[in-house]
Amino acid sequence: MGNRKLKIGKRRPVRLRSRAVKRVVKKRLTKPRLSLPKTLRRTAKKPPVRALAVRSAQAPAIIPAVPPLPPKLKIGWFSFSCCEDNTVVMTEVMNDHWQEWKRLFDFRHARVLKSRNVMDAFDIAFIEGAIASEHQAATVRDIRGRSKKLVAVGACACIGLPAGQRNTFTPEQQAEIAPLVARFSALPKVQKVSDVVKVDAEIPGCPMDPNTFLAKVNALVKELRGGAL
Ligand code: SF4
Repeated sequence: MGNRKLKIGKRRPVRLRSRAVKRVVKKRLTKPRLSLPKTLRRTAKKPPVRALAVRSAQAPAIIPAVPPLPPKLKIGWFSFSCCEDNTVVMTEVMNDHWQEWKRLFDFRHARVLKSRNVMDAFDIAFIEGAIASEHQAATVRDIRGRSKKLVAVGACACIGLPAGQRNTFTPEQQAEIAPLVARFSALPKVQKVSDVVKVDAEIPGCPMDPNTFLAKVNALVKELRGGAL
């Protein structure tokens, strides 16, 4: 078989030694090719430029319009005379709903979340704690002026207790704490937030209930965004 070796596909001319070999070669050469020859393959891959131009003129590209995202709601979170447990509840709720909240809210002022806080125009301002001094009362009035919605969160903000327990002191006890009241420029009586400014919503509880808080937040977002969350 040494001199009968035949390499099909080589360009070198092949010497045919027998009829049997001739038959095999003929069969292979006449076998229909399954794939296109190289030159045709190249043509098939790249359609002529003219054809492309005609196709693009016939079917103009449709680029779907992406609706712009609504601006985030500006949020302020403020704490006055209280233990700040409502802040803890808020951060726990935020932890569970971070994916939605980061799309919805821009926390402009929240000392628990950031060190650079801005006294901005707020869509929603949350107030926790009772109002115990004239300085606090002035701050709440300022916040009210900047906010579309103001929400009192927790019992201290809603009813003034338990932070305002000194309101329930006997005259003797009041006399005893009088020097402290004067020293801290405190108001004679601790006040709930609605005593100082108009409140749009109240979330009671000591601390507030997270589900009630979340429901109220969602309702306010819907209201401010015209029904869309
Ligand atoms: S309502 Fe209760 S939990 Fe909230 S700040 Fe006041 S004392 Fe703390």
